[in-house]
Amino acid sequence: MYDLCVYNSRIMDPESGYDAVGAVAVSGGKIVSVTREPVEAAVMIDAGGMVTAPGFIDIHTHEDDISDYQELMLPRQISQCAVKTGVTTIITGNCGSSSASPAKYYEAVRQNEYPCNCYMLAGNVALRRQAGLGSYDRANEAQINDMCAILRKMFDEGAVGLSFGLQYDPGTRWEEEEALCRIVAANDKVAAVHMRYDYPEKAEETLEEVIGLAEKTGAKFEISHFAANIYGSGKVAWSDKRIRESDADIACDMYPFNVWSTTIQSAVFDNGFDNFNFTVEDLEILTGEYAGQYCNEELFKKLRKEPENIMVACHNAMPMEDVENVYRLPYAMLGSDGNMQATEDGHIKGHPRGAGSPARFLGHFVRERKLMDLMTGISKLTLLPARRMGLASKGRLAVGCDADFVVFNPETIADRAKFGVDVCGLAPEGILFTVNGGKIVYQGDR
Ligand SMILES: [Zn+2]
Repeated sequence: MYDLCVYNSRIMDPESGYDAVGAVAVSGGKIVSVTREPVEAAVMIDAGGMVTAPGFIDIHTHEDDISDYQELMLPRQISQCAVKTGVTTIITGNCGSSSASPAKYYEAVRQNEYPCNCYMLAGNVALRRQAGLGSYDRANEAQINDMCAILRKMFDEGAVGLSFGLQYDPGTRWEEEEALCRIVAANDKVAAVHMRYDYPEKAEETLEEVIGLAEKTGAKFEISHFAANIYGSGKVAWSDKRIRESDADIACDMYPFNVWSTTIQSAVFDNGFDNFNFTVEDLEILTGEYAGQYCNEELFKKLRKEPENIMVACHNAMPMEDVENVYRLPYAMLGSDGNMQATEDGHIKGHPRGAGSPARFLGHFVRERKLMDLMTGISKLTLLPARRMGLASKGRLAVGCDADFVVFNPETIADRAKFGVDVCGLAPEGILFTVNGGKIVYQGDR
């Protein structure tokens, strides 16, 4: 007898295109049957006609947030929020920002009994700090060799790729990028990249740097939060044309908001606000004692000097139209860019994208805005990120795959998380339950 069978469900598998009412059964953490009729199992769940899809994979999170690129500050809130929105696998260590040791990270995940699967990227900013480089320093040959050695070690410890934070460490130059990308290509990993600039005048230069690296080294690239860096009149369409006509293997992800987020101390703000669509008054403080307040000139200057990282949200940073234009690209997927903290005094602080992104994507962009059909939407949350990260047993509903799946109501699924302390962590509606490795890790409202 099997462990669990979910029946009377609309089974949707983006790999095979299977879309019919049936049953999924699991045993020993694996999918053992996908059939029309229910099969006998210890736990039988009537899904009431709701959709069963592969567990969502969030290809872009900041779960292993760090202060000094050494010490982990775990457990974070992301994995708890993730399963409530149907996510069973997260990729962390994005935008160049990771802890130094995948081995320690995976051990912390195991000890804290995380409800979802976690994979980590090696961040280039973390490599640079270990090689003694500051944000604006250009690496010499010896330092590049050091970084290459550390990257190889991090791959040996299970890092699934490399991430670049080019905007955060402007001192990262071509020779360093090329050396690291060659290691990525040789190990058949992925290079995720937070690109160098994020305003329209620099869009061409920004994208060409990535295309050039991908073509020269053969590394596969995942451009992070695409529309946060490439937006404005016709820039997304131009980029798509350039990517398609190049020999580069490039995919991308995007969060379902036009509000980006970073730390107030970041190099992003070193040159003021002239290049941006927003002003200092559009900055909402997300963490620390001023969380929930909007910035002004005085507060901005004060908080920039704080030793502790303070997250801010930059409202109206890009046109919503370009978020939609990116989602229409066949190689674009969802990545929340979530970064969420549970504070010691019992509050949840962060950008609401950490708690509701897949639900917002399916509810708003797929159902309400009709950017794509439901199966295509599901593939951007499952099959595409699984393929990109080389997770062969995930992102699919097929016999032999990991028993990671989500049951949801496609008519009601929507995010409830909003900007503000605590409300940023609210679980979405329309997620009935989330199963990870054959175990029910979350049960929501029907
Ligand atoms: Zn980023």
